[in-house]
Amino acid sequence: MLRGIQAMPTNALEAIIDDIVTANHILAQEGVVDAFGHVSARHPTNPGHFLLSRALAPELITHDDIIEYELDGAPVQPDAAKGYLERYIHGALYEARPEVQSVIHSHSRSVIPFSVTSEPLRPIVHSCATIGRHVPVWDAQDSFGDTTLLISSMAMGRDFAKVLAQNNSALMRGHGSTVIGRSVREATYTAVYLEVNAGLQLQATRFPPVKYLTDGEIDAICGRLADAKPAEGYDRAWAYWCRRAGMEPTPRFVG
Ligand SMILES: [Zn+2]
Repeated sequence: MLRGIQAMPTNALEAIIDDIVTANHILAQEGVVDAFGHVSARHPTNPGHFLLSRALAPELITHDDIIEYELDGAPVQPDAAKGYLERYIHGALYEARPEVQSVIHSHSRSVIPFSVTSEPLRPIVHSCATIGRHVPVWDAQDSFGDTTLLISSMAMGRDFAKVLAQNNSALMRGHGSTVIGRSVREATYTAVYLEVNAGLQLQATRFPPVKYLTDGEIDAICGRLADAKPAEGYDRAWAYWCRRAGMEPTPRFVG
């Protein structure tokens, strides 16, 4: 039986919260997040705020768990429930990249080897092109020395945002990864395929040399996906993943 979102959203805020909830369930089903990991979106009418669940395992998140934050990680409502320690990842990226509408952080397993070795994670298959030409690695040691490796302050978030720079994704050494998107659906797509690419690259590198996508191929594929008509690209993937996660797939909200 399908669960979760049943009614059509009536405004942009309801629609974006629906997408955040659904993305959390999709990413849990696809093995990108487990007890940890989080999905946010920029507030649709106040770009200086973002929306993120209270501290909770993604598969358990419902509409009522979503909290509104200032970009510095302070909750808009002072009595809000306890938030994720790493919410500064999200605020710092929205602060640094005005075009970013969604941020997803996870500890998905296949990407971790690429965060602790000199082997760069690079697109190897067409469906994974949106991870970008370059996937930088942020190392907490470089600016902060010995830490828990978690991004637990705005200073750490801003340092990470500098390393992610204009890329679509970045790894955190010995910790996990973060992707950005121009929508929750695009970020969800990239988060799933970052993990897929890492798994395939781990297999392919056993038989070198590996032929990666060229920069021109990456640009062509990203351009096609960005121009995708309804029922293609991100929307087709979203509908498929909604079904697998047992969530009602809602059409894109057009206000
Ligand atoms: Zn983390």
